[in-house]
Amino acid sequence: MAAQMSELWNQMLKAGLLKASGSDEPLNLPVPEFRRGMGVFTGNEETDLVEFLEGRKICGRARSHFPILEGYKNLPTLITNPETLANVPLIVANRGDWFAKKGSPSQPGTRLFCITGAVRKPGVYELSSRSTIEEALSMANQGRGDDGVRAVAPGGMGFGFLPAQSFQTRLDHLSLALANCSSGNGGFIAYSRELCPVELIFKHLQFFQEVSCGECVPCREGSIQLHAIFRALTDGKSRFQYERSCVRVAGTLPPMIQLVRDLVETIHLSARCGVGRQAVAGVRSLLDHFPQELDAHWIRRECPSQTCRM
Ligand code: SF4
Repeated sequence: MAAQMSELWNQMLKAGLLKASGSDEPLNLPVPEFRRGMGVFTGNEETDLVEFLEGRKICGRARSHFPILEGYKNLPTLITNPETLANVPLIVANRGDWFAKKGSPSQPGTRLFCITGAVRKPGVYELSSRSTIEEALSMANQGRGDDGVRAVAPGGMGFGFLPAQSFQTRLDHLSLALANCSSGNGGFIAYSRELCPVELIFKHLQFFQEVSCGECVPCREGSIQLHAIFRALTDGKSRFQYERSCVRVAGTLPPMIQLVRDLVETIHLSARCGVGRQAVAGVRSLLDHFPQELDAHWIRRECPSQTCRM
């Protein structure tokens, strides 16, 4: 891809397609340097990208500042994505007011959401940031509203989820942040009513435990511990083994729900990069919106959705 991008750039220069606005004279621009990505999940985090560009191991950066203030070689660095860049020509051509009117006052314009999961017509939808979660679901459900959807992760599985009672929340950053959620990377997932939220988080933790780069203790050890707890919550045999090992090591069983809360807050506050916070975002949402599901699995040893092997 990097070689193709360089080739395309050269072709545009040769064809004289790169011109200043209002001028017919082709610009004599230097060829930018394109670098191939690392192909690892953690490499998408912005401080990881800076570390990569500086030739270091990809393991995030303990941030005192955002890269916009102090990034590549400690210089202000703008890190953006193709979706944002794709909006630039339209904004230049139609003026900022035109773009702003398409969104909410706190977040002008539109946003791409890749809607997947329990919907009839999954796909990439361009939505105004004024749109609500329900409106987004209705589009992807061909007019059938939030039919059969129990919860939604508007930004993808690393950015928290909201239950059906919150489907009137708008999809702009501010509204989602006030609901303890985020539009993240726009990887909107709809979860069906049949899905057990505790099992969902177990699978989610399995993924993050595997992609953690292992550089910092809270994420490396914390994600392993959380994964073990959720395995015990969703599987009776694993629970027996987990409880036996707790008693053998500590002489007693820990207060499980409190332990989950403590682990989640420790990882959220002390993980070195955003991947650690993404790992626990789903657990935080579970504690916020479905605490009764955790109680049912841990205290009553039952799965209300009847999907876990208790
Ligand atoms: S938070 Fe996780 S992914 Fe990020 S540096 Fe720490 S161990 Fe690596």
